[in-house]
Order: sequence, then C-alpha cells, then structure tokens
Amino acid sequence: MVALADFNPSCYLPSSVSSYLPNAVACPPPPSVARSMFDTVTSPFSSTYSVLRHTTDAIMGLPFLSFLLIPTMTSYSTSLNLLFFYLTWSTLVLSHHPLRVEVVGSLAVKFLFYLLPSGAMLLVDVLFPGVSASFKSLGDDALPLKDTRRKSVFKFARILGWSVFNVVFGVMVQGLLEWLLTMQLGRPAALRVTTTLPLPWGIVKDLLKGLVARDVLTWVVHRYLLHGGARPANAIVRDLSAMHGSWYHKAVKAPFPLSPTYDHPLIYLLKVVLPMYLPAMYWRFHALTFILYLAIVSMEETFTHCGYARLPTHFILGGIARRNEVHCLTGGRGNFGTWGLCDWLAGTSIGTDATDDIMDEVEESDVQGKVMKQAGRGVAQVKNAAGGRNGSAHVGTRSRRRTRRTRSDSDSD
Ligand SMILES: [Zn+2]
Repeated sequence: MVALADFNPSCYLPSSVSSYLPNAVACPPPPSVARSMFDTVTSPFSSTYSVLRHTTDAIMGLPFLSFLLIPTMTSYSTSLNLLFFYLTWSTLVLSHHPLRVEVVGSLAVKFLFYLLPSGAMLLVDVLFPGVSASFKSLGDDALPLKDTRRKSVFKFARILGWSVFNVVFGVMVQGLLEWLLTMQLGRPAALRVTTTLPLPWGIVKDLLKGLVARDVLTWVVHRYLLHGGARPANAIVRDLSAMHGSWYHKAVKAPFPLSPTYDHPLIYLLKVVLPMYLPAMYWRFHALTFILYLAIVSMEETFTHCGYARLPTHFILGGIARRNEVHCLTGGRGNFGTWGLCDWLAGTSIGTDATDDIMDEVEESDVQGKVMKQAGRGVAQVKNAAGGRNGSAHVGTRSRRRTRRTRSDSDSD
C-alpha cells in the first residue's frame, strides 16, 4: 500500500520529456548523499517515535473499546469513535514491524501507567513528607527517604536507578523472546499484532486467564524459589533466596512508589516479568488485549505500593496493598502472591486474606488502625508459627480463623 502511494509515473519518463513537466507532477530528484546518510542514521529513532505516537493514540483511544460492552453500540458517536480507534490501530500495525509495535507499546504502557504516576507520588513523598505521611496507612514508617544524609540519599538513588532499569530490562527481555521466536526459530509471534480488533468477550476471558495464571506463577516462584525456608537444600534456591533477601527485603521495609520493580534483575525477571508475560505468550493474546493486561498490571503495581490508606477500589487494590505491606514488614513470611488467591488457597496469608477483604468491604472502617493491627497480628502469627513449627513460613488456616475471630471481638469493643 505504501509502495503504491510512492509510485510516480513521471519518474519513468525520459528526462528530455519530464523536464517540461510542471514541478507538482515532475519526478523529484534523488536525495543527496548527505540526506540519505542522515535518514539512515535517524530512521530507527524517527520510526520508534512514530510507533510511540501511534501507540499512545491507540492507548488513549482504548476506553472507546468499552463502548463495545454497552448495548448502545448503534449510536453515531460510538461508531465514529470506534472507527477512529480502528484507523489509528490499523495505521500502527500496517506501517511498523510487529516486534517494534510490541516493544514500544509495552514501554509506553509502563511509562504511562507505572513510571509516570509512581514518579509523581514519590516526588510528593520526598518534597512534602509531612503531608504525604498523613495519607499513608503506615504513617511516617512508609516514607521512603526519612534520612536525608548524603549516604542515604545515594543509597535511595541507587534503588530508584535499579527500579527504572528493571522496567526497561523487562521489556527488552520480552522483545528478545519475541525475536528468538519469530526471527530465529521461525515460529509465529507470541502476541497477535493484527489489524482485526479482538471481541469484548475474548478480551475479558484472556484478561481473567492471564491474571489468575500470573498470580499462580508469582506465588510459586516467590514462595518456593525466593523464600525457600531457613535452610533450603537446593543451592540454586539458596542463592536466589539470598539475592531476594539482600536486595528487596533489606532495602524495602515498607512499600513505596517504584519499589515493586526494585530487586536483583534476575529476581525481577523470575518474579515479575515471566509470570506476567508467559500467560500472554501461552494463550497468544491479541496485542490490544496485552496492552490492556499490561496497563492493569502496571496500575496494580502503582497503587498497591504507593502506601496510601485510601485507594480507588478498597476491596481489590486496598487488600493487595495491605498484604504487600505485611509481606515487607514481616520480612517475607507470607503473602507471596499478587492478588491473594493462591495465598488464601495454600494458607500462606498473613494478617488478612482475600475473604477478609470482602468482609472489610462490607464493614467499612478505620483503615490506618486496621493496617497497624494487621501488621502486629502478622508479626505475632509469625512468632507463634516460628515457635510452634521451628521457623516454618506457613501460617495455618486455624490461626487465621482465630485472628478473624479476635478482630471481630476487638472491633465490637
Ligand atoms: Zn519476598
């Protein structure tokens, strides 16, 4: 299509004839050597910028897809919005390589839904610590930079540097996997980058499958490879647990913005990138579904690690945030999954589990007090479990039931 648009018949006429043609029709002279060199050098950047612009347009247009779920599909403006969205998306897909669309699209989503909001929240934490602490569920304890001495500031800058590096590194690994699959092994791409739009029910199904599989994979990796017990028998598990402990748990005593992507790059790959990307690869998500999935995951990372007591959805994000806080406060004795489903099933929840969140949503009450109580309960449970079972990380269902009963007793006081 592009080649046809560039076709100019006057370029095929003899120069003696074409010299008489008006400028608007005549074949333009070939570009100079300097212009060709300049274009060769800048084309990777200009083309990447063009993908970024189109992807951002497509992401901004994504909410219009939600109109598909509303039965007023026949309305004129909705159809027009969808048409514009389809044009933006098909221009993006037809004019760029699928690998570039996937990599630049993923980077754009990570930037818009994770780096930008997390960076803004972190800036507020650093510039206005007093104001920020009053909104945090753990108060002063959740502030990332309490000590402003030179050494601490450098240490904190190092954490942020690794955190941002890991985001880019994760997307690069994702691109490398796709490149290996398509260019080296000659297999179809992991994601479907096509002009056809996915159907609404297909999007919902893929998102649910992806998020559940991500929770399961994260739980398995985090529980068995990164917290393999006091003395893991396997040398690899021992090394991975030591890395996760000395990087993440030593530096992150309470979650703060940009902390979810801080860890040793290998651990970040195992715990965050692969559990997120493998389900998308396995079910061959449509690129648009993947963008939506990545946006949900990025927003979850942003909100559940910001430390604020009040979150947009108290039941889902609030529950995940409280469980992350307890995971950090107890040095990783429980709450290994992302959404809490596996922790609930396996009995590795500390403090509250997913079912407690439902109860909490019903009896909306004081969040700050609740988090402090949960953290205290989590530590007490760990101590009890350590005393009773010689340091085992599991916290049984019985103790959780007791916790819930105790809480309902104390709440009724
Ligand atoms: Zn951990």
